Amino acid sequence: VPNPGAEAPSDVASLYIDGEWRHAASGGTFDVRDPASGALIGRVAAGGAGDATAAVAAAATAFPGWAARTAYDRSAYLYRAHSLMLERAEDLAKLMTTEQGKPLRAARTEVRYAADFLLWFAEEGKRAYGRTIPSARADQRFMVMHQPIGVVGAITPWNYPISMITRKVAPALAAGCTIVLKPAEQTPLCAVEVFRILDEAGLPPGVANLVTSEDPAPVGEVLLTDPVVGKLTFTGSTEVGKFLARRAADQMKRVSLELGGHAPFIVFEDADPVHAAKGASLVKFLNTGQACICPNRLYVHRSIKDRFVETLRDRAAAMRAGSGFTDGVTVGPLIDEDAYRRMTRQVDDAVAKGAQVMAGGTRLTGDDVDGGYFYAPTVLTEVTPEMEIYREETFGPIAPVIVFDDEAEVIEMANDTRYGLASYIYTRDLGRALRVSEALRFGMVGVNDINPTSAAAPFGGAKESGLGREGAQEGLLEYLETKLVGISI
Ligand code: ADP
Repeated sequence: VPNPGAEAPSDVASLYIDGEWRHAASGGTFDVRDPASGALIGRVAAGGAGDATAAVAAAATAFPGWAARTAYDRSAYLYRAHSLMLERAEDLAKLMTTEQGKPLRAARTEVRYAADFLLWFAEEGKRAYGRTIPSARADQRFMVMHQPIGVVGAITPWNYPISMITRKVAPALAAGCTIVLKPAEQTPLCAVEVFRILDEAGLPPGVANLVTSEDPAPVGEVLLTDPVVGKLTFTGSTEVGKFLARRAADQMKRVSLELGGHAPFIVFEDADPVHAAKGASLVKFLNTGQACICPNRLYVHRSIKDRFVETLRDRAAAMRAGSGFTDGVTVGPLIDEDAYRRMTRQVDDAVAKGAQVMAGGTRLTGDDVDGGYFYAPTVLTEVTPEMEIYREETFGPIAPVIVFDDEAEVIEMANDTRYGLASYIYTRDLGRALRVSEALRFGMVGVNDINPTSAAAPFGGAKESGLGREGAQEGLLEYLETKLVGISI
């Protein structure tokens, strides 16, 4: 584990292809930095198209053997990987804090979440049930079976650098697919450690392959165009997701896409505004607002707005920013300068159009935070649909508050977005909870609940937030093709 402040380690042979750790064919490398301090923490292989092609070939060679094993056999590898991940949880969490910036406590939580996928799919792989269907013909039988799609290309983001990998790798391997993964260029070291675990779990060569790269395009191009790749699974921005889906369509590759969100967080007049504001601050500032399920529009009923805003403001103002290794820090750095510019642009635009800054609204400065892009947890009120922040995903620690007067109005406002990932409602009225849950055009609804996620529950988006689901039964089906066998007897 890179130790912040120590000499940068030498080049990591970070390509894992056909069961071997390799440098890039080109010999190229790129730097990995701690976003909280800017310090160099590692140097990894800059894989290119040739490396990706080699990885895809290894995955293709390994596929028939892996698919032919029993689900019980495949499960044993995932169990071993799960145990190894728990044994190494503390080192993995520290590496994640160093490489991604999130507070150590949050990194520990993510490692446990990541391990959950290995365990859950170790079991679910055994339940790739088919079915029989009665025929209208007396001499005919229908049988439906599920078979692994083949070689999977996976592309993952930096914000959850370990769990987004296991959420794809575990179901793919459980289903009998083999995989080539390209992690985000900001967080390759976390990916390397996950693949060390897969290697030590004894996976046969070629079943899981890792290609780190600084420029995502050439590796992405191989995954999109090599005819051997049957499926592409991606978590990241809506913009890149659409590009990948368009290109994947040329060969009609299957796609699963977990894209951006613009979550509404609705607090009805019968809810406790203080409790709701505490929930809102926890999920809004989670991962410094850099999660696709973070609320982006906080709709509060006019009658309880003042208590809600006061509580949210006080909690935002009390949060401490800095290195994730410092006790009590709950706000980490933004991932890079682009993210900081987006915060500034959205806040400036909102203020110019009449929003009030109740907390934050500025970059943080001081000894603890000068090395990175730290932005103060921010609360804006008087937010209107004309503002950029009302339409655009923020992916940062800014909470825009909008007042509403009735249920039908707020449902319409909440649905008035091209996104459809997470949504949240606070109410004590059961009828309303069900009515509004049904009316929201989102893949997930938290009712008085800020964390409607689990390896056992389907995660994914409606509309431009993506295609397909991860986790749960649905997450396994994403890696299986349905085959009908009709038999004349
Ligand atoms: P973010 O803006 O949050 O970094 P991106 O969608 O740009 O989100 O990145 C998510 C993942 O998609 C990363 O692994 C990144 O390298 C990858 N990516 C970005 N552009 C491309 C591309 N043209 N082809 C393949 N992968 C890409």
